[in-house]
Amino acid sequence: MQISMNSVVSLNYEMFDASGVMIDKNHDPIVYLHGGYDNILPAVEAALDGQEVGKTISVTMDPDDAFGEVDPSLVHEEDVGLFPPDLEIGMMFETRDPETGESAQFRVTAIDAGKVTVDGNHPLAGMQVRFEAHVLDVRPATEEEIAHGHVHGAGGHHHE
Ligand SMILES: [Zn+2]
Repeated sequence: MQISMNSVVSLNYEMFDASGVMIDKNHDPIVYLHGGYDNILPAVEAALDGQEVGKTISVTMDPDDAFGEVDPSLVHEEDVGLFPPDLEIGMMFETRDPETGESAQFRVTAIDAGKVTVDGNHPLAGMQVRFEAHVLDVRPATEEEIAHGHVHGAGGHHHE
């Protein structure tokens, strides 16, 4: 069965940076509903269209198609006193906007002279990445899955 609109696709993936170093891979297979439901990067979804079990795709994406360009307005300096004493570079913090309730993740990128630099950009922002995916399984989605816009069952969405 070929991957098309409303296919449920299971895949393994590996992601590489511009120098070919592997930066991410899945542990359990990724299962997603194909067909523009915004469940997977659009460039990857386009490359998977028409593929079938056993096929491997490779997509090289510029930042715009992957995790975006670096937004300098998401980089802030804060007073070190606002952070826990065991602060280290690379730590992640979550903030919640009291007005909108939206949460944002910040990464500590520098600690210097009582100031902490935090960066809210995706760690892969500004990077060209290559995404390799191996198709493990393809099945038709159920009507309920299509109505919800996501996969149910193993690897998918669970409802209470
Ligand atoms: Zn659902």
